Amino acid sequence: MENRKSVVNFASGCSRLPLSVLAQAQKDLLDYRGLGVGVLEMSHRSPEFTEILDAAKADLTNLLKIPESYKILFLQGGGSGQFSAVPFNLIGLKDARCADYVVTGAWSAEAAREAEKLGKVKIVHPEQDTYTSIPDPNSWDLSSDSSYLYYCANDSINGVEFHFIPDSKEAVLISDMSSNFLSKPLDVSKFGVIFAAAQKNLGCAGLTVVLVREDLLGFALSGCPIVFDYKLQAESLYNTPPCYSIYIMCLVLDWIKRNGGPEAMEQNSVVKSKLLYDVIGDSDGFYVCPVDVRCRSRMNVIFRIGGPDGNDVLEQTFLDKAAEVGMISLKGHRLVGGICASLYNAVTVEETQKLAEFMTSFKKEHQLQAASR
Ligand SMILES: *Cc1c(COP(=O)(O)O)cnc(C)c1O
Repeated sequence: MENRKSVVNFASGCSRLPLSVLAQAQKDLLDYRGLGVGVLEMSHRSPEFTEILDAAKADLTNLLKIPESYKILFLQGGGSGQFSAVPFNLIGLKDARCADYVVTGAWSAEAAREAEKLGKVKIVHPEQDTYTSIPDPNSWDLSSDSSYLYYCANDSINGVEFHFIPDSKEAVLISDMSSNFLSKPLDVSKFGVIFAAAQKNLGCAGLTVVLVREDLLGFALSGCPIVFDYKLQAESLYNTPPCYSIYIMCLVLDWIKRNGGPEAMEQNSVVKSKLLYDVIGDSDGFYVCPVDVRCRSRMNVIFRIGGPDGNDVLEQTFLDKAAEVGMISLKGHRLVGGICASLYNAVTVEETQKLAEFMTSFKKEHQLQAASR
């Protein structure tokens, strides 16, 4: 795209989109396929938009081999909206109205708090003060009468990612995959519900994709807001969906398909995250990643500079110098501080290499400053 300043964007969400997607969206904005209107101005019940909706569902189904017994919903309200929608729809699955939660970061903690408004919530492991590891699944104390077991597959704030699918025993398994959806192949059949806000790996804000197994429809509590009722939303287009965000997702899904699908996304994210974790590991404590090596996120690499608690001055210098050479949005979430490099699908290996090299040279220049503290 002409006139676009060249930067490397490590934002954790909203985040980087492939350039080809933006270029196509730019072309279609004024006139979609010669219709004289763009997607922003199209009726959500027009044949043209219906075609976009169908393509989005077909592409998702193909890329993730989603079984026929699942409904695909395109909702608004973001990932956080689903923190409420999940208990509204499913905590009533069993009369006890209770749910088990695994809390491994800020997002699952928030989801558990939201569910507490609607039923009994049990955290199945001793609660952690800091989120740097996944409590051993063998020690989880699952309830016999819980409606579901909930976990967050990748916490983008704390940098903790599940590299396995937990065994929920008899309970329905539910996962927030907002920040690692389509970053790897996925066995959808293990889950009752999977949801993902689109602004990390799937496109832009405004859309949340929900996959729900058909037999779980129809259990919503009577107080469930109508727009969050999975059954109603699965039956037909109840209200205006986030049309433009769905269209952008379509372009992104096509880009993923053309670039080798979830398998290739996974290979890339293994390579990319290893580049950064290797620099951190070889830095003699100059860079510190607090997360247990077994559950370090491939999507969001978080670290401190100059010691385990970080050195504010060094970290700010790092951000400033990185910005000077065109690497932006590396500041960690306000809850944890430090640095966060998000390596979503659209971030390339070359760009990550550039950051790894920058980190190595920054360390050489500043390690004495860190040591003299
Ligand atoms: C970003 C994120 C969310 C929040 O999504 P919103 O759309 O901002 O509500 C929830 N869960 C996870 C895992 C995320 O990464």
